[in-house]
Amino acid sequence: MEVLLDIPYVLDAAELSKTVHIDPASDWGAELRELIDLAEKTGKPKAAYAEAFVERRNGDTVEIGGISFTSRTLSKNLAHSERVFPFLITCGHEMDQAFSAPDDMLKAYWWDEIKAALLTAAITRFEDHLQQTYRLGKTASMSPGSGDADVWPIEQQKGLFALLGDVEQTVGVRLTESFLMVPNKTISGILFSSEIDFRTCEVCHRATCPSRQAVFNPRLWKEMHQI
Ligand code: SF4
Repeated sequence: MEVLLDIPYVLDAAELSKTVHIDPASDWGAELRELIDLAEKTGKPKAAYAEAFVERRNGDTVEIGGISFTSRTLSKNLAHSERVFPFLITCGHEMDQAFSAPDDMLKAYWWDEIKAALLTAAITRFEDHLQQTYRLGKTASMSPGSGDADVWPIEQQKGLFALLGDVEQTVGVRLTESFLMVPNKTISGILFSSEIDFRTCEVCHRATCPSRQAVFNPRLWKEMHQI
């Protein structure tokens, strides 16, 4: 497992104020600035990844690094891939230790948005690092639990974590019994070279999602569900 630490980031107060819909010159703006200062002192976004290889394909099952994953969409996406990169990218567990405001919904929301900004910085660093190191060209990725429930069942987070190794020790991320990652603002998945511009949102029926990055694509959904 490779680990990326010391990831640079800039927390833009004006941008974050816009995101959480407050006036940066107001009292709330000053309080947000305090949280940003705290995050700048404590935030340590991180990424972990491994280089792995597709070893076997059998219908909807694909075996990577000795671990079987069952997902028709994953299997179809990896039909022409040999080398893949399981990854985990996080805002960093230090953020949860530094601030917790269970009774202050507003500040909890602000803190979550600051964590999201750290996660974005870590994703950018991870993608740049992979491109510089492996010259992958165009890539796509899939994450267990993203999209419709059957696209890649969330239970297979367990296999993904097993592929990476002891991520709790290296990057401070743990998996709960219901397969959610702690801290939140952590993403996991498998990245692969792809000529197709695949995004899981295209095969996700969720009607109202603030994070949607692509419109639902019924043609692709059908293609991915065909035997
Ligand atoms: S639409 Fe939302 S829930 Fe569905 S895959 Fe995209 S980000 Fe995830």
